[in-house]
Amino acid sequence: MNAHRLGEMTTTEAAGAVLASPVVLLPAGAFEQHGPGLPLATDLVRAEHVAERVAAQLDGSAVIGPSVPVGVSPHHMAFAGTVTLTTTTLAAVLREYTDALYRHGWRKVLVITGHGGNNATLGTVAQDLLTTHPDLQFAWTPLTTLAADVVAGMDVSEVHGHSGEAETAQMLEIAPHLVRRGDLEPGTTRLAELDALGAVTRRAGGPRLTARYDRLSANGVLGDPRRATPEDGAALVDAIVARITDFVTEWLKA
Ligand SMILES: [Zn+2]
Repeated sequence: MNAHRLGEMTTTEAAGAVLASPVVLLPAGAFEQHGPGLPLATDLVRAEHVAERVAAQLDGSAVIGPSVPVGVSPHHMAFAGTVTLTTTTLAAVLREYTDALYRHGWRKVLVITGHGGNNATLGTVAQDLLTTHPDLQFAWTPLTTLAADVVAGMDVSEVHGHSGEAETAQMLEIAPHLVRRGDLEPGTTRLAELDALGAVTRRAGGPRLTARYDRLSANGVLGDPRRATPEDGAALVDAIVARITDFVTEWLKA
């Protein structure tokens, strides 16, 4: 058994973990298209891997609670296999997971989300919990954007992001057996292509327009995943794990 996973503990061991391990990590993902080369569960695979590594680094002070395997992905529904929750359903799931853990005595919950589409809901839930559970501390973190400086040092396309260089690199490091290397192909890689698609959403510094991914990229990919390397993936995952671990270490002292 894995000593950090709540789901592999007995209820007796869980009662002990409330005292010994004050932080619960909740991996959150998505069930959505990741282009022709990566699986639908890519965001969950990355979130669970990071949670495992963070828990291992924290050496007993955090447990990994139940995953949230499906996220908010209406923008990917034009692509086969995608399953989405509405924001209100995801918010209810997060609140109810958190409330159950709270009732057992945990007061620090950290959601690790591999999917940016969950971010808005996480922010909403965090605000609401300040009112409903004032003695609870609820934190959440994305993955790739934590390591934006590492991405900036990589050889990335002008347009990159979903299923592109950085995400594919992480999967080459974490779960290479799930990457269809022969099927990796570039998606939208240049701003001029987005302009041609009418995707004003990608302009920085202006209002945001939420767009369907099939309007941003014909194959659902932003960037060129063929440029991804496992070395870049290792650097990204190491940075993400270190930054989350540093946060929790400080949090435990607070
Ligand atoms: Zn993803």
